[in-house]
Amino acid sequence: MQDLKQYEFWFIVGSQDLYGEETLKQVGANARIIAEELGKDPLLPGTLVLKPIAITPSVIRRLFSEANASENCAGVITWMHTFSPSKMWIQGLALNSKPILHLHTQFNRNIPWDSINMDFMNLNQAAHGDREHGHIYARMRLNRKVVAGFWQDQEVRRSIGIWMRCAAARHDGMRSVVLRLGDNMREVAVTEGDKVEAQIKFGWQINTWGIGDLASRYALVSDTEAENLLGEYESRYVLAPEADRQAVLEQAKIEIALKQMLEAEQAGAFTTTFQDLHGLPQLPGLAVQRLMEQGYGFGAEGDWKQAMLLRCAKIMAAGLPGGVSFMEDYTYHFERGKEAALGAHMLEVCPSIAADKPRIEVHPLGIGGKAPPGRLVFDAAPGQGVLATLIDLGDRFRMIVNEIETIPIEHPMPNLPVARALWKPCPNLKDAAESWILAGGTHHSVYTTALTAGYFRDWAEMNALEFVRIGKETTPDRLRDELRWSEAYWSRYGSL
Ligand code: MN
Repeated sequence: MQDLKQYEFWFIVGSQDLYGEETLKQVGANARIIAEELGKDPLLPGTLVLKPIAITPSVIRRLFSEANASENCAGVITWMHTFSPSKMWIQGLALNSKPILHLHTQFNRNIPWDSINMDFMNLNQAAHGDREHGHIYARMRLNRKVVAGFWQDQEVRRSIGIWMRCAAARHDGMRSVVLRLGDNMREVAVTEGDKVEAQIKFGWQINTWGIGDLASRYALVSDTEAENLLGEYESRYVLAPEADRQAVLEQAKIEIALKQMLEAEQAGAFTTTFQDLHGLPQLPGLAVQRLMEQGYGFGAEGDWKQAMLLRCAKIMAAGLPGGVSFMEDYTYHFERGKEAALGAHMLEVCPSIAADKPRIEVHPLGIGGKAPPGRLVFDAAPGQGVLATLIDLGDRFRMIVNEIETIPIEHPMPNLPVARALWKPCPNLKDAAESWILAGGTHHSVYTTALTAGYFRDWAEMNALEFVRIGKETTPDRLRDELRWSEAYWSRYGSL
């Protein structure tokens, strides 16, 4: 699991020199108290770094240029304690490349009715200082998140925390390699996409390695190493007594070899394809499930977009209850009143979403032409969640998120020995499926019970990405209109 404390968030408090030294001292003291208190709250998972009070154009320009150059700065939080004329901020904001959260708060919760005077008003004037500040973002068409409210309130802190997690995921993406073993599955459209554009937009370095590179590493893994890993498997999962032990050992060897490659290339995510397995005994199943559990993103059939989106979701969800997995819509239950979608994959579903201890089983796979692969079998834990996907529309990427409720699986399905999840999509199966399909959504997605649609919206905003949410109030007719309006917007502003 990633330690989100490695990501710094620079807290820049704005003021000006009109009110004299005393006021500025007080601004500095108040900012320090807020920074210390917020920094201690686990709702804010990153490291909050208070910067010098921003009172002149040159200070502001330097702060943003230092933020840009910083390897650890994942985002900037601004707050105007007093009025801070926004023309002073133009150069700094124009060169800024980090996600911005505009915190609209004030030091005191209550108006001090009995003692309030003009000095107090000048010192605590975020109510108009932050309006001036917000105006310049709007005037410059800059994406940012605005969070308003008292800084001690849980809701305010939770909103800052969500944004921090998304900014951490974006920052990680800027440094991440997506290791593609083989190409996309032949003839499939939805897993394709513009890798150059993805690198320009998200920073993801999406490159290909031959399956032979993995096969040769796999061949060098010793039996002892594989046996040791099997010991870990037995402590974490239930090894089915009838499971072919040798087949499980092969998956352990693949896991070890794959992890070596991921570490050597500093990769955050990877893809495989069952159409290119030369030199491997089995389709990587258990091995992929284990690596997802360790925080790597994964996409099957060469699906690098969902692989890296999964990696982002893993970072966002670090330390939160619930799981995050690669997922595929498989089949429906259309019984009146009990409508649901059954999701699974050939093998590759992350055990972080499991309701109970997963079982390691070995069964033949009717695809790929290899030996029966080891895999973890389990049902997904019930709860609220979302499915998220990223598609390439040719001139831009679009993110689509569907809110879902995962429900218990009441039937054992003994002839379906894979990890699976059963969910009711919002607003209902019919409208959700129509909406998802109208929006061009994939059959692959990122499934999570740790995050809400709000996380993905924040992440989409900081990446200037089209965001489509399918939730309780969605109707396909309305959504179709929105997609058309959106088309006009993105063809006009998408390249900004
Ligand atoms: Mn698939």
